[in-house]
Amino acid sequence: MRSITMLLYLACLCAILPAQPLQYEIRPENTPEGGKLKLRVTLEFYPSRTDTTRFGLPTQINWSAGLHRCFRNFKAEGGRVVREDSTHLVVVSRGDGPVRLQYDILQHFPGEQVTVETSCSPIILPDYIHLPGECLFLVPRHYQLYEVTVRWTGLPKRWALQNSFGSGELEQKFQSVTSDWLRTIWVAGDFRILKGEALGKPFAFAIRGQWLFDDRTLFDIAEKTIETQRREWEDEDIPFYSVTMIPFVLPKGGRVVGNARTGRCLGYGRYQSFVVYASDDCPLDPLIHLFNHEMMHDWIGGKINTGSPGETASLRWFDEGFSEYYALRNRWRAGFSTTAEFLDALNREFLASHYADPHGETPNLIVERDFYTNPDYENVPYRRGCILALYLDCAIRQKTGNTQTLHHFMLDLLDYTYGKRRDLLEHFDFFHETLGAYIGEAAAGTFLTQYVDAGKRIAPGDFPAPDFLEFESVNGAPHLRIKAGREADFRR
Ligand SMILES: [Zn+2]
Repeated sequence: MRSITMLLYLACLCAILPAQPLQYEIRPENTPEGGKLKLRVTLEFYPSRTDTTRFGLPTQINWSAGLHRCFRNFKAEGGRVVREDSTHLVVVSRGDGPVRLQYDILQHFPGEQVTVETSCSPIILPDYIHLPGECLFLVPRHYQLYEVTVRWTGLPKRWALQNSFGSGELEQKFQSVTSDWLRTIWVAGDFRILKGEALGKPFAFAIRGQWLFDDRTLFDIAEKTIETQRREWEDEDIPFYSVTMIPFVLPKGGRVVGNARTGRCLGYGRYQSFVVYASDDCPLDPLIHLFNHEMMHDWIGGKINTGSPGETASLRWFDEGFSEYYALRNRWRAGFSTTAEFLDALNREFLASHYADPHGETPNLIVERDFYTNPDYENVPYRRGCILALYLDCAIRQKTGNTQTLHHFMLDLLDYTYGKRRDLLEHFDFFHETLGAYIGEAAAGTFLTQYVDAGKRIAPGDFPAPDFLEFESVNGAPHLRIKAGREADFRR
């Protein structure tokens, strides 16, 4: 049903707006200084009705900053480039004909250090390239309906190629009514590619590096995760899905430069794709959780559009925490973990850890403001959000005699934003009112002011429990148990 609505919406929009072609040709080239690789991109676009076409350069994606410095050597054929400041440029042109804008993309950190801080920067190395769509494609500001062609030329013969739209294709065409197509990942190089199908739709897994397990093991986990999650969301009509995985690499000799760090594994859910970075000794269990978490962003933060984080306001607690809760549940329901493992993870890694965290009650706005600069807050939105999701799930199940769950609320949010060009951050009233309809207005108010905004931890005795669940207090933290023989009630 949702995909029919989306198709109708697309058809209407296409009738109103003229097609706006964007053609990108991408070519790896050596820099004049030698040794280094750069990407030369030529974009053909149609100028706006005025003589000035505006472009913005990306500055920060997650922990990667200063991204505008990767873009160099702008030239325009059929127009003149004026650099307004470090992050904005305009192309001045006459007439309606297409204009060709050429620019180079360079890696803006030395060597091969793939760390948390460089994970969303363009990685352009002799063996492979790895870029988020925002760092590859500059887009005229006036475009609203994108008819995109991407053509790769001059790639080394042995290089594999993969992105959120396909695997191994040197030329791709697609349309998009939103800028979602930029929230993608683009890789090429010495990747090993495994291809398969999930519920009849193709997906591909691109991996490089050496790991503790073979590629097939990881591929099978990805496949099962895709299948179980799409069934959960009743969303099986996704044309293609890409998973990519590369090793973290610390600066040469392991010497840490600045605040470079890696950790065990890190991922980002992107449009029709997710991307993983991991240390070569990363065990399987955290990767299973990461795959489940990142893929969940297809819906939570993706199709359930939560907007672009502003200076301070953001629904990170919802995006990250609810994805954690869904990932835990999906692992359990899909058989990746047993009931005991599911409860142990929820009780130990989320409830006990959050209630013992000295920063666990930091107000939401402070966590948001300092999230990328203060490591003390890195876990807070994940744990707090997961506990809030558990709380809502329990509240809805208790109030409705287990005929409804958190998932019903989430499907309402999905219907509200998916394909509708609106997001929950801007329309938070909808979130608030819908929540009130499920758990009551007063409870929704307390939830949002006390538990979300003020960051207050919920007392163990204040957790609503449907008749098959019990909350005890262990060292001041809530501890969840499922009553004997009632697993199936919570599994649904
Ligand atoms: Zn996440």
